[in-house]
Amino acid sequence: MKKIVLVVLTLSLLLSACTTETGGSSNGKLNIVTTTGMIADVAKNVGGEHVEVIALMGPGVDPHLYKASEGDVRRLQDANVIFYNGLHLEAQMGEVLEKMNDFGVTTVAVTDTIDRSLLQSPPEFAGNYDPHVWFDVTLWMQAAVQVQETLSETDPAHKSEYEANAAAYLTELEELHQYVLSEAEKIPAEKRIIITAHDAFNYFGRAYGFDVRGLQGISTESQAGTADVQSLANFIVEKQIPAIFVESSVPRRNVEAVQAAVQSQGFDVQIGGSLYSDAMGSAGTPEGTYIGMVKHNIDTIVAALKGE
Ligand SMILES: [Zn+2]
Repeated sequence: MKKIVLVVLTLSLLLSACTTETGGSSNGKLNIVTTTGMIADVAKNVGGEHVEVIALMGPGVDPHLYKASEGDVRRLQDANVIFYNGLHLEAQMGEVLEKMNDFGVTTVAVTDTIDRSLLQSPPEFAGNYDPHVWFDVTLWMQAAVQVQETLSETDPAHKSEYEANAAAYLTELEELHQYVLSEAEKIPAEKRIIITAHDAFNYFGRAYGFDVRGLQGISTESQAGTADVQSLANFIVEKQIPAIFVESSVPRRNVEAVQAAVQSQGFDVQIGGSLYSDAMGSAGTPEGTYIGMVKHNIDTIVAALKGE
C-alpha cells in the first residue's frame, strides 16, 4: 500500500514540476508507450512508420508485480497514446494508468472491446477476469483492432494506413492461429496437459484443446505453498505426464520443486523447456515478437509432449 501512495505522490510532484505540453516525438511520429512487449508489438505492426513505441516491461519482466519507476511516469506523461492490457494484469500500475487519463493522455486497455462472455473468471482470482488473453490468438486479434481504431482516431491523417497495416497483421495472426491448431493436433488428446509455473495458459488451453494447470494462480502475486506443490506432483504421477514447463518471466525454483516432489515418488518428469508467458523474448530474436513467442511455445510444448 505504501508503495502505491509513493508512486501517486511522485506522480503528482512530477506533473506539477513539468509544464504540461502535448506529447509526441520531435519527428512528427505518434509517441506510444505500452506496458507489455506483446502490446508494443501490436502497436508497431499497426502503427508502422507513423509511430514510435516504447514498452515499459522488457523481456523476463513479470507484469503482475511491475511497479512504475519515476522514469516510466515521465514516459507515460509524454506519450500521445498509452496502451495497456487491463483486466488487472498490471496490478501495481492501476492508479498510475488511471491518473494518465485524468491528465489528458489517451490511455486505452487493449482488452476493453473484447466481449465479456469470451473472458474467463476463475473463482480463485477474486472476481477478476483472467488477463492472459494474448494466448488465444483470436482474442489478441480483437486487441489489434482496438489499437487500429485508437490510432485512427488519434491521427486521422493516416487512418487508411493504419487500417491497411492492421488488415495485413490480422492475416498473419489468423495464420498463426491455424498453425497452433494444427500443431496441437500432433499431440494425442490424453497427453494434452500443460503444467506451468503460473496460470497464464487458460485461454490457450481453451482455444487449442489443452488441460492446463499452473502452480501459482492467475497472478504471481499469490505464492505457491508446499501443499500446492504436493498436489500438483500427485497429479503428474497419476497422469504419467512426461514434461512440465518453466516460464521466462517467473523464477524456475517452484517448478523445480514440483519436479523434485515427483521424482521422490519414483516417477521421472522432465522440464520440457521454457515458455514465454507474460513477456516476450529478447529484441532481435524470433521470440522477441508476439508471433515468434507463440510459435516457440507451441513448438516447445509439442516437442515435449508428443512422445515417441
Ligand atoms: Zn501472468
